[in-house]
Amino acid sequence: MQKYTCTSCSYIYNPFIWEEDIIPGTDFETLAEDWVCPHCGDIKESFIEAPTHIQEASSINMITEEELSHIPFYKEQWDQIIVHIGSPDTPHEIEENHFIEYIGLFETDGEIIDMCTLPEESVIFFENPWLEDYEVRLSCNIHGVWRGIKI
Ligand SMILES: [Zn+2]
Ligand SMILES: [Zn+2]
Repeated sequence: MQKYTCTSCSYIYNPFIWEEDIIPGTDFETLAEDWVCPHCGDIKESFIEAPTHIQEASSINMITEEELSHIPFYKEQWDQIIVHIGSPDTPHEIEENHFIEYIGLFETDGEIIDMCTLPEESVIFFENPWLEDYEVRLSCNIHGVWRGIKI
């Protein structure tokens, strides 16, 4: 799900974070037209799509622990794609203030194929889209979006 930013005050609407009266997972597009920025009170039209910067792991031999806990390692197993959030030794924490927003399969142009929001397990299963090219991405509310590595 896309994040939006207020052009007046830089507040970021994050659909995965609980705001007053708004249930986590509410898409920006579906917010009421009279919804206003909770920070500065500007109107909904003042928001633009927040840019997504996708991070890559450094060379696999010198990967840091923080990176390890954010990289979705994935493999294809016949009609399934099995995604491990981080390595078993360095799982990502699930805390009130630090959590995984989503794990998703994306086409290379960024279109969503399938997505699991707010995963509670460290292993996620997707249906294999049988595509030549696709990406697995993970989004942490603090550390941003990470591209997966196929194992
Ligand atoms: Zn604002
Ligand atoms: Zn994180």
